[in-house]
Amino acid sequence: MEVGRDKVAILADIAKVKALSVLLVVVTFGGSALCGLAAAEALPLPRPRPPQISTAESAPEGMTEEAAPSACRLRLTAELAEAPSLPPLIGPGECNVGDVVRLEAVWLVDKTRVAVTPPAILRCSFAEAVAHWVREDVAPAVRSVGGVLRSIDNFAAYDCRGRNRIIGARLSEHGRANALDIRSLKLASGTVIELTDPRVAKDFRERLRKNACARFTTVLGPGSDGYHENHVHLDLAERRGGHRMCQWDVREPGEEAVPLPPPRPADAP
Ligand SMILES: [Zn+2]
Repeated sequence: MEVGRDKVAILADIAKVKALSVLLVVVTFGGSALCGLAAAEALPLPRPRPPQISTAESAPEGMTEEAAPSACRLRLTAELAEAPSLPPLIGPGECNVGDVVRLEAVWLVDKTRVAVTPPAILRCSFAEAVAHWVREDVAPAVRSVGGVLRSIDNFAAYDCRGRNRIIGARLSEHGRANALDIRSLKLASGTVIELTDPRVAKDFRERLRKNACARFTTVLGPGSDGYHENHVHLDLAERRGGHRMCQWDVREPGEEAVPLPPPRPADAP
């Protein structure tokens, strides 16, 4: 059977189309593969864990699944504070801390939420002490002057550094996630109360100082060493003989212009 010229041309065209199709498939497939790669690279990071109390069944990321919650973790309940567990803090140097939480808020007995702004990274035992201090001392003190506590200002929490940011000084309790610097309190009315402001009612600040010194082993404020004129440092440092430091001068207006002390020794807090 003789194949006509036209037919040959058509057959040739079909062959071309087939070759083109194969090429298209290769290009398409290759393209998808590239897209797939790009998509893999652009995959979103895992969502942050919701703020919830960890349990033995759902150990926080980065911790071994068999790690049971600490006694502190069990005491720091969702009724007391919003304080999700964090993976252990690793270095540099001595700054290694386990049983860490992010203290986001404290719940008062009357279900009022007191935010920690910004949230503070603290060891569980210290966060627990702060939560009780806010709930049992600070909020009632604020209530006694007719206010409603809304938030406390976290000026510094975990920070791997020497004392008073002096390089080479002994590790600050901040490096152990065992300290919190607080500058002010914010009330529901919007009023901000600076703890070291001499214009704030003296009785109120005296009460806060007395309570803080009863709960924490170190309280440093104005008059302590020149590094705490605008905030109050709280920590739970353990000292030989149970020694405590309570150095916060509750000043009156006019008393604040105290000259700074001479440079401090490197081993002071
Ligand atoms: Zn401090």
